[in-house]
Amino acid sequence: MNRRYHIVMPPRFFNTYSREIEELEPRDPAARPIRMYTCGPTVYSRAHIGNFRAYIFEDLLQRHLELRGYKVHRVMNITDVEDKTIRGAGEADVPLQKFTEQFKAAFFEDAHTLRIKRADEYPAATDHRYIDRMTEMIGVLISKGLAYQADDKSVYFRINKFPDYGKLAHFDLTQLQSTGRVKHDEYDKEHIGDFALWKAWDEADGEVKWDSPWGQGRPGWHIECSAMSMALLGDQIDIHCGGVDNIFPHHEAEIAQSEGVTGKKFVRYWLHCAHLLVDGQKMAKSLGNFYTVPDVLARGYTGRELRYALLRVHYRVPLNFTWEGMNEAHESLGRIDEWLARLRECSASVRLARSHAGQARSVPYTFEDALDDDLNISAALGFLFESIRETNRAMDQNEMDAASANAWLEWWKRINTVLDLEAETDVAIPDQVTLLAQQRENARREKNWKRSDELREQISALGWEVRDTKDGPKLTRGAGSA
Ligand SMILES: [Zn+2]
Repeated sequence: MNRRYHIVMPPRFFNTYSREIEELEPRDPAARPIRMYTCGPTVYSRAHIGNFRAYIFEDLLQRHLELRGYKVHRVMNITDVEDKTIRGAGEADVPLQKFTEQFKAAFFEDAHTLRIKRADEYPAATDHRYIDRMTEMIGVLISKGLAYQADDKSVYFRINKFPDYGKLAHFDLTQLQSTGRVKHDEYDKEHIGDFALWKAWDEADGEVKWDSPWGQGRPGWHIECSAMSMALLGDQIDIHCGGVDNIFPHHEAEIAQSEGVTGKKFVRYWLHCAHLLVDGQKMAKSLGNFYTVPDVLARGYTGRELRYALLRVHYRVPLNFTWEGMNEAHESLGRIDEWLARLRECSASVRLARSHAGQARSVPYTFEDALDDDLNISAALGFLFESIRETNRAMDQNEMDAASANAWLEWWKRINTVLDLEAETDVAIPDQVTLLAQQRENARREKNWKRSDELREQISALGWEVRDTKDGPKLTRGAGSA
């Protein structure tokens, strides 16, 4: 494995802001980690698999960057106060905190099921530290003329005063003026596109309110992310992710607020994940095609299978979720499991390959190279399955020796830090067991049957079973072993 001769280019990603593929140049990779902000769940109901598609894309991105040697500091916010959480708590007649708690717990449970790596921080919007930060930012925006309090007592961002507004979504403000129906309370605003930074309290908000210089009320959704991002990652961050739904108005508004306050470029790379469709249609409760993680598990699939199904399509391509696709995920993982089991047996065998065909080949870096190319997971998985086919063929023909099998297992270990797709029950053969098996094979060659039997018992005591096959000794987990 000639890593030295492998020229590594920086990973390249499609930046929604420029609409171009750009090389990743973190602000200061030597001195600090990549700062990554990912918009998290709004905890008013259980997140659906479309939400998790975006979280899995972010997981893939973080893990790939880490495989490439970058340190990543990732923040994912929890939106626990906005219109839907307040409405939900009101309908359930419970305090907001109590209402959102259950969905927060469900989110973490589902993320765990899908093997999504935990973010470094999960700030909640209702944390007083962030509420303080939000009111502080709103104050600055008002003082700069970028925000105003309207007759309805709410505070709005004045988009006409921020010339870059619309640059992320790539549309111009005149489009906003022609949007049909105008709600009654929209008349209080100067411009139809002005968005709320602070929403004045009204009866529907019940107990949900905070004091502010503009009277009691609550923050708007957009300012929550600007404030939490700035509080935890600083004025300027490297990567900001979300689903395509977040581009407008949410992320557009985040740029306006953050840059309005600091005067500095807020985000270097904006990455957005495409929609998830179910049977070619938009997922909707009314269509009966709305699924959560437990819905999928209830059909007999595993979290690992769902992870694979949500991971395998390039993040900028809409993913069509089907049950047939889940069955394919099951089959694909079965092939990986079988391949790993064969490699482990082969690596534990002491026989040499008949030829060196399996050995001559060094394990390449194509997998990582594919992911460097805007996270081209389809090409990366294509390469994995091609490698499985080739190495299986080599093992069929007894052209794979233990060292080569080990090299492939090491390769798998490396790429699996990104994929995280290994079966829970798969246990690597401990070195001690491998060593005993080799000693036993030597004893057999010397026709020292007594010693061979002793070694078999020692192996058995460690929970493994050694079988002598025509291809040599094979190790399997012993019956009844933990
Ligand atoms: Zn956000």
